[in-house]
Amino acid sequence: MGDKFTVGWLYPDLMNIYGDRGNILTLLKRAEWRGFDARLVELGRGATKQMDEVDIFFFGGGQDREQALVYEDLLEFKQPPLEQAVKNGAVILAVCGGYQLLGSYYQTADGERYPGIGMIDVRTEAGKKRFIGDIVVETEIATLEPKTLVGFENHSGRTLLGPKARPLGKTLLGHGNNGADHMEGCLQGAVLGTYMHGSLLPKNPHLADYLIRSALIKRGVDELSPLDDSVELAAHERILQRAQHHLHLQHR
Ligand code: GLN
Repeated sequence: MGDKFTVGWLYPDLMNIYGDRGNILTLLKRAEWRGFDARLVELGRGATKQMDEVDIFFFGGGQDREQALVYEDLLEFKQPPLEQAVKNGAVILAVCGGYQLLGSYYQTADGERYPGIGMIDVRTEAGKKRFIGDIVVETEIATLEPKTLVGFENHSGRTLLGPKARPLGKTLLGHGNNGADHMEGCLQGAVLGTYMHGSLLPKNPHLADYLIRSALIKRGVDELSPLDDSVELAAHERILQRAQHHLHLQHR
């Protein structure tokens, strides 16, 4: 068995909706298919060990109720070791509710504010109308081929990016960060935030490999052996075709 490759799952019992678990399976399998000894560490509430062993952290989505149950724990127990792990080269994929709590705050539609850990320069305030449906994004990440990312969104939060954060891409279909500036997600340092559930990575194998490669840079690895992604990319293509249909209907 090859080198260890560790995925850290933040709050698997509370922040895990709309198939987010699929991202964990994808990261573990794609590392395993490259000969790594792929392991999962579940990081629930309370003080947790092993955060310094993690290569990629995954922080999934959750309704306001779940976010209310984790934000204090995130501040008290997770922020320090997470920042240390990122300093040591770990990367973070955060989806929706998780993405929001890595920013400065998430404010519910009733005005309740949950402070975030401020790891990324974004802030989120919920609106009355939920953004629900397929989402297609044209990414800013130069090395990604195809240039599209596909997923599913379901959120009330409207996220605004500050000057230190740049978008993951622009929306070709869907609402993305706030339904106004046609931007989706956030790229800042080792953090990739997005509103795309679905789950995201099974239908975007190129993004999964981008994250794995980013986590392996500290080991001097910058190439991954190619995999047969024909099934994954066929699913990706199917969503693009469906989106075309939507867009066609929208512009009629
Ligand atoms: N509760 C947050 C919102 O509504 C996040 C939802 C989610 O993770 N899907 O925006």
